[in-house]
Amino acid sequence: MSCWVPVPEGSDFTLENLPYGVFEPRRGGGGHGPRVGVAIGDQVLDLAAMWAGTPLGADLATGSLNRFLRRGPREWAYVRAEVRRMLETDERRLFCERNLYRLDEVALRLPIEVADYVDFYASEAHAANLGRIFRPETPEPLLPNWKHLPVGYHGRAGTVVPSGTPVRRPAGQRAAGDFGPTLRLDIEAEVGFVVGAPSALGEPVSTGAFAEHVFGVVLVNDWSARDLQRWEYQPLGPFLGKSFATSVSPWVVPLAALEAARVPVPVQEPEPLAYLAEKESWGLDLRLEVSLNGEVVSRPPYRDTYWSPAQMLAHTTVNGASLRTGDLYASGTVSGREPDQFGSLIELSWNGEWPLRLADGSERTFLQDGDTVTIRASAPGVGGGRIGFGEVSGTVVG
Ligand code: CA
Repeated sequence: MSCWVPVPEGSDFTLENLPYGVFEPRRGGGGHGPRVGVAIGDQVLDLAAMWAGTPLGADLATGSLNRFLRRGPREWAYVRAEVRRMLETDERRLFCERNLYRLDEVALRLPIEVADYVDFYASEAHAANLGRIFRPETPEPLLPNWKHLPVGYHGRAGTVVPSGTPVRRPAGQRAAGDFGPTLRLDIEAEVGFVVGAPSALGEPVSTGAFAEHVFGVVLVNDWSARDLQRWEYQPLGPFLGKSFATSVSPWVVPLAALEAARVPVPVQEPEPLAYLAEKESWGLDLRLEVSLNGEVVSRPPYRDTYWSPAQMLAHTTVNGASLRTGDLYASGTVSGREPDQFGSLIELSWNGEWPLRLADGSERTFLQDGDTVTIRASAPGVGGGRIGFGEVSGTVVG
C-alpha cells in the first residue's frame, strides 16, 4: 500500500513520519480557528474535520495538542493507525482531499500549551567544552555529579515560542554595575520531549514507562545570553540569561515514528543507580543541522548524548514530582566531539576566541541583530526511509 497524497522526494513528512501540529488556514477555512493536523508531504490533514462530531474531534478542534495528548498512548496509536489508513486507502479519500491544506497556505502555531519546561545538560561533549571554557584552571572539565545524574533546571514555560517568532535581544546585568543589551547572544541546539500522559504526585515514573508518558519529539533552540548567564548563575543555576525565549519546531514527531532511529546511548561509567538503569537503552539517532543566515555551521549528532530521554524523565520524577500533559523537557545543547559538531556559538567560537568566518566574508562570535538561526534534523526511518523534523527558526531583533 502506498500513500495517495504526493510526497516529494526528500520530504520531511513521509507516511512513516506523520507528525502532529496545530495550524490555521491563512485564508478561507470558514473561521474554524486553529486545530490539530498531521503533516504529509507538502500538506496538512485537518484531523478535527476527520473526527468531526465525536468527542475525539472536539479534542482535536482546539489550539493545542494537549487534549489529544491527555488521552494517552492507546489513543495515540489508534489515531496514528487511522490516519495512515486514510492516506493509504480510498475509503475516505474524497473527504480527506477536502480537508487537506497546502503547508504554504496555513499558519503554524505553538503545538502544545507548555505546562512545565525543564532543560537538561545531557551531552558530555557540551558539558566538557563549557567546563574547559569556564573553569580552565581545573584539569577535570566535568563537575563530580555529572556522570551520576542528569543535571537539569526548571525553565520558563510561558516563554516557549513557536518557530518564526522574532527573538528580542534581552537586556540585563552583564557584570557588576553593568546593565545593557546582552553582548553575547547565543543559541543552543537541543532536542525536546513532549509529555502527553500525566503521572500521579508521589509516584516516580520508571525508565521503562517512558513511552507510556512521552508522546513525541520537537527541535528546541534555547536562546542564551552568556554574559547575563555567567554573572547570575551561581549558586542557583540559569535564570534570566535563558528565560527570555525558547523556540520550538511546530511539528511533534511521535515516538512511534522513531523506532528505526533507536540506538543505545554511549557506555555509562560509573554504572547508573538502579532508578536510572534501562532494560534497553533508548538513545536516538537524530542528526541535527544548525544554519546561521542560511549557511550550515554545525552538524550535532544527538546519538552521542550521554543521558537518554527515559533517564531524564525518571530523574525528573524520582522525588515523586508529577508529570502534567504538555510538560516539555529538553536535552541541553547537543554537541559532538568534533569542532564542526558543536551546538552553540560559545563552543563554535571557543568563547569568542576563534570567530566563525561566514560565506559572505563576515565573522561571528555571538549573534548580531538581524541574524537568523535555523535548526533542522532528520533520523532514519523504517526500510531505509528518512524522518524529518521540519525546522525551528528565529531572527534576532534589537
Ligand atoms: Ca540549554
